[in-house]
Amino acid sequence: MNQHTRIDLKPIPFIDVAAQRRRLGQSVDDAIARVTTHCQFILGPEVKQLEKDLAAFCGARHAISCASGTDALELVLLAREIGPGDAVICPSFTFCATAEVAALLGATPVFADVDEATFNMDVASLERAVAAARKQGLKPKAVIPVDLFGLPADHDAIAKVAAAEGLFVLDDAAQAFGATYKGKKLGTIGDACATSFFPAKPLGCYGDGGAVMTNDDELADRIVSLRVHGFNKDDKYDNVRIGITGRLDTIQAAILIEKLKIFEDEIVARNTAAARYNAALADVAAVPLVPEGYTSVWAQYTLRLGPGRRDAFVAAMKERGVPTAAYYPKPLHRQGAYGHFPAAAGGLPVSDRLAAEVISLPMHAYLDEPTQARVIEAVRAALKS
Ligand SMILES: *Cc1c(COP(=O)(O)O)cnc(C)c1O
Repeated sequence: MNQHTRIDLKPIPFIDVAAQRRRLGQSVDDAIARVTTHCQFILGPEVKQLEKDLAAFCGARHAISCASGTDALELVLLAREIGPGDAVICPSFTFCATAEVAALLGATPVFADVDEATFNMDVASLERAVAAARKQGLKPKAVIPVDLFGLPADHDAIAKVAAAEGLFVLDDAAQAFGATYKGKKLGTIGDACATSFFPAKPLGCYGDGGAVMTNDDELADRIVSLRVHGFNKDDKYDNVRIGITGRLDTIQAAILIEKLKIFEDEIVARNTAAARYNAALADVAAVPLVPEGYTSVWAQYTLRLGPGRRDAFVAAMKERGVPTAAYYPKPLHRQGAYGHFPAAAGGLPVSDRLAAEVISLPMHAYLDEPTQARVIEAVRAALKS
């Protein structure tokens, strides 16, 4: 490919937030204008409306919006009074926030390995992580399975171990809101579910945002209080617990109400794009697996390349104007702030291998066929070279 053709090609966005913005058009402008007219910027009427819509969308009794996906995770652990001496089991192959919230509260994250085929928590390793926690004198209190890249974890298998070990299950669905597991939408699985509305997530807002879903009335009450400094609902100047400033802005709620209306449609489009990648790449690369009875919302479309191939692949893709991203190049147990925390006995070899071998391709609901054909052609060429 010469310099000239490269300049002629429009750069391919990794996630095309602008295309979605064009589709939403005036509806989002109007929604924002309503908020800047009524001026209830904090916990305005749109926040309640969004919470109703989110709960209805996934079938949970409660949806409590908050300031980020990280806050959503933290609010649940705070509500459970998890702290020093407690162990919270989570995968190592995830975004840092999953483990960060446990550490921030003085609890100890304990790392489990993930499954080679789904990249999600390996249940045998979860059991070993519980044993590792006990061996260190920690009380295993909770497990945070992650629905990585939009694909649900094996929630039935995790629930079995959790029941046997007395663990609270907090589903980290930051990347997977809208996905289903055996006919149930995430948000209704586990004791509580946290999601994120960071712009790059499948359902993103125009800033930071998140939500907790739960069917537990008492837990929901506590989270509503903790989200605003631990207020007493009968006397707001009597704070009854130590909380955070964790509200979702009304403007973000107004935007999310409009975006939720097209979300099902976008999930279909993401699945269409993923199916096109699968069909065109399965003969040359390890394409993502979606087990029977699961659906994904494709937060990422991730290939596994095999050892030692990623750098050359990334360079070859870049040469052809196609952006890629390595999620995640370092598992948490190899990172500076997390390396000293305990892990399941036998180490986390799958997390280590995946971190070295995975690469994500452009993926969003507005990936049209010609653009995708360019990506596919680039992948096939890059893998041959
Ligand atoms: C994005 C993400 C979070 C945190 O969400 P924020 O809204 O960015 O705070 C937590 N866990 C996982 C797995 C994520 O991908």
